[in-house]
Amino acid sequence: MLGKMMHKQLNISGLIDHAARYHGGTEIVAVETDGSIARSNWAKTELRARKLASALGKMGIKQGDCCATIAWNNTRHLEIYFGVAGGGMICHTINPRLFPEQLIYIINHAQDQVLFLDKTFLPVAAKLGEHLKSVKAVVLMGPRDEEAAAMVEGLLFYDELIADGDDGYVWPELDENLPSSLCYTSGTTGNPKGVLYTHRSTVLHTLAGNQPDGLGIAARDTVLPVVPMFHVNAWGVPYVAAAVGCKLVLPGPGLDGESLVRLIDGEQVTLALGVPTIWMGLLDALEKTGSKAASLQRTVVGGSALPPSMIAEFRDKYDVDLIHAWGMTETSPLGSLNQLLQKHTALSADEQAAVRLGQGRAPWGVELRIVDDAGNLLPNDGETQGDLQIRGHWIVDTYFKADSSALTADGWFDTGDVATIDPDGYLIIRDRSKDIIKSGGEWISTVELENIAMAHEGVAMAAAIAAQHEKWSERPVLIVVKAPNADPSEADLLGFYQGKIASWQVPDKVIFVDELPLGATGKVLKNKLREAHGDCLLDKG
Ligand code: ADP
Repeated sequence: MLGKMMHKQLNISGLIDHAARYHGGTEIVAVETDGSIARSNWAKTELRARKLASALGKMGIKQGDCCATIAWNNTRHLEIYFGVAGGGMICHTINPRLFPEQLIYIINHAQDQVLFLDKTFLPVAAKLGEHLKSVKAVVLMGPRDEEAAAMVEGLLFYDELIADGDDGYVWPELDENLPSSLCYTSGTTGNPKGVLYTHRSTVLHTLAGNQPDGLGIAARDTVLPVVPMFHVNAWGVPYVAAAVGCKLVLPGPGLDGESLVRLIDGEQVTLALGVPTIWMGLLDALEKTGSKAASLQRTVVGGSALPPSMIAEFRDKYDVDLIHAWGMTETSPLGSLNQLLQKHTALSADEQAAVRLGQGRAPWGVELRIVDDAGNLLPNDGETQGDLQIRGHWIVDTYFKADSSALTADGWFDTGDVATIDPDGYLIIRDRSKDIIKSGGEWISTVELENIAMAHEGVAMAAAIAAQHEKWSERPVLIVVKAPNADPSEADLLGFYQGKIASWQVPDKVIFVDELPLGATGKVLKNKLREAHGDCLLDKG
């Protein structure tokens, strides 16, 4: 015989099995919906996940059925991730901040059979009730609760369900190409589209995304995913955490800066992950409370562009390394992460920060390229901008229940982002193609305008949008939330752009507002701003 290696399917159950076997006592700490702290560990999580899989089977839920969650980051949600996928069902995590019509659309589209809910979201479920066609059981993620039982007819209770599960249940070995989880894009335009991940894509994303030049999470870490478990599988952190057996801290509903500071200090968190708006709240709270976040070594920031001052603030005040990452629902989500190369070690801290401000390099397993409007390949020279395309082991091919592939004729996924890539492969996202400002045939990057504005001490938040213009078709307008106790004028801010960009790129107008509209995942809703202010340069007389 020629010889042969073992063949084992890449299954999500293998991740939690490893965690329970070798890191069973390692803690999983979670803030419950009522604010109390719950403590579990990998062994208990694995056991409860298996009991859940068995209980779902007893309820008549079959392999390939979708089970939905509308929930915070907590231990039961983690058990559902592994129990549902491990048992061969599909874990469909839903963003609770979607509009009711969108919730109804996606639950019916996915034909979810079970709906798992945290108590916070019971009123939402009570309202959706009659519109949900496929849901056979609504399960409250907690113990029996009479008040809740009165709100939703036939409500089941998670802890009772688990008690019913068989602790001798054995994970099935599943074909690794079977689906394991489902996320919908937030659908800022049109109906949300579903991305159906497989066991194989998830396991490969876990292994490759956690390389030392990626998330780099180790067993000795204590990891706080602030990124919600309904936002692209919390960027894959639950799977990575199981694969390495680190301590996990799940923040529940407490996503404000002060709650996060308490958790970081209380649980000695070493690595936290989230979108930039979360870290702005955290930095404010650190300042207010005087905490130095002494245990925190790294934060991973992604989801939208990083304000330039954030790297230096984390580094200088708290000795925290900030890792910038880029991705999207369609890419599982890790598409690139920013870690330095050997040649950068000789650079000064500020020069290194300049490199790290970009979105970084692709890990093994994905390839990135930029193309022009006609699909011609553009050079990786760090200057030429083009449409960013991606392909690899954990990138969408066809949206959930779509008739045709989402890919280009030559097999790449077009991200809708406009980017440059330099000769070392470092990616910089210049804009989203629908947000970029097209002024008289030239492009102006809203990200660049926002970054400059955010560096002004009088600015708390800034968003640049394209406003319609009679002569130039579009011109930039800057929408600003002032920093507390600051009162910058329009002229101050426009003057601040002088010498930093070409004069034709400077915004035509600054509009001050009390707050920016944020979407379900904490990103600024540029379409809402365009609706509100897009005609502010037109002569309405
Ligand atoms: P949504 O369309 O709801 O924002 P995603 O969460 O999938 O859905 O968002 C993906 C998009 O977010 C990317 O295409 C990109 O435009 C933006 N994005 C993600 N990470 C970054 C980043 N680090 N810098 C700039 N933009 C980012």
